[in-house]
Amino acid sequence: MSWHLSDEERRFVMTVRALAQSEFKGRAGRYMDGTFPWENIRALAELGVLGMAVPEEFSGLGLPVFDTALVLEEIAKVCYVTAMAVLGEVGVQTRIIASYAPQAIRARILPAVCRGEAILAICMTEPHAGTDVASYRTNVERRGGALRLNGVKTLISRAPEAAMFVVFTRVEKRPGREGIGCVLVEKGTPGLAVTGTFHTMGGENLHEVRFEDCELPAENLVVEEDGFRRLLTAFNTQRCLNPAISLGLAEGAFEEAVRYAREREAFGRPIGAFQGLRWKLAEMVREIEAARSILYRAAMSANPFPDPLLAALAKVTCNEMAQRVTSEALQVHGGYGFTDDFPVSRLYRGARYGTLGGGTSETLLDLIGKRVLSGFDPVDGILGLGVV
Ligand SMILES: Cc1cc2nc3c(=O)[nH]c(=O)nc-3n(C[C@H](O)[C@H](O)[C@H](O)COP(=O)(O)OP(=O)(O)OC[C@H]3O[C@@H](n4cnc5c(N)ncnc54)[C@H](O)[C@@H]3O)c2cc1C
Repeated sequence: MSWHLSDEERRFVMTVRALAQSEFKGRAGRYMDGTFPWENIRALAELGVLGMAVPEEFSGLGLPVFDTALVLEEIAKVCYVTAMAVLGEVGVQTRIIASYAPQAIRARILPAVCRGEAILAICMTEPHAGTDVASYRTNVERRGGALRLNGVKTLISRAPEAAMFVVFTRVEKRPGREGIGCVLVEKGTPGLAVTGTFHTMGGENLHEVRFEDCELPAENLVVEEDGFRRLLTAFNTQRCLNPAISLGLAEGAFEEAVRYAREREAFGRPIGAFQGLRWKLAEMVREIEAARSILYRAAMSANPFPDPLLAALAKVTCNEMAQRVTSEALQVHGGYGFTDDFPVSRLYRGARYGTLGGGTSETLLDLIGKRVLSGFDPVDGILGLGVV
């Protein structure tokens, strides 16, 4: 399979690259204390980046998943925190609103997302259950003509900045995964509160969010019937976008390592002149290019959602690769790599996120294993899995 960008798409990606390299790179260190990168978000809104997942009728660009992955990759090369903030606007929450929200909410929120004025939070994880979705306790029920939401969510990104919360919740206490649907909660709703903050090694803050007797309009229950399966379909897109950030972090760290290997001298020679270092760089580029191939294949399979098996393979491959490559890039920098003075330590810390959010490596490997066991065909071999 080959990937092809039109001239217009290529120009768009190159414009984002130029902005990221000229402006974001220099100020990436500012966001390591939990500061939200508003200035970068506004600059990206001006380019149209925040509207990549928004349909054109709501002022967005409505671009394919592949283009979105390329843009996230460029941003992540220099600033993990900004890439994660952008993921919030081009990822699953925007896609759920665009696909399932009532027209009035779409018409109000989506153009504001494009302008960089409406940050969206997604609330899935609960204090006692992250991976174990079937154990969620948050519940919404109908009371008269309205809805009432109760529950606690945790490790939520961008909660203080969010204009809208996309909340995965049990509907009418129905049990199991099948009982999970999705409601939209607007900032300022009585009973909604951000009640805790965790600072992360990646730089951003995560938060606890409580919903206590939040009264919502009935139409804010946007996914109910067969809810979880439909929501998971949107999640396969996230499984191409999260690894795009991992790929970008690995590339950014690799570029730093190459620069350092050319400049730093030991024993009277640039360290890159030593075979031990050259092989390290070769291994890094080999891993990056292998991961890129599977990610781009997965992203290009989106029509409109990516193939679930390819997306899972891409996510695990890129997430795990980024940890190894950023660690090796840090090693090339010697002791200086461990200091805050070199970008590589930031990229390394950001790369640790990939295997945790959007489906852990363990969960996805289990999913891949099940698909192999059920789909592997002794006659067709791996062709039976439908990914080649
Ligand atoms: C930077 C960052 C941003 C985040 N942003 C958000 C957000 O905006 N919204 C949100 O809802 N959540 C967010 N999260 C939370 C994230 O989605 C959860 O951390 C993730 O789903 C895992 O849940 P958990 O932390 O409860 O781990 P657990 O589910 O408790 O898992 C702990 C460990 O056990 C393993 N495990 C669990 N079940 C199995 C199994 N069946 N087989 C094998 N291994 C298993 C896991 O893989 C993991 O290694 C964020 C997390 C991070 C790090």
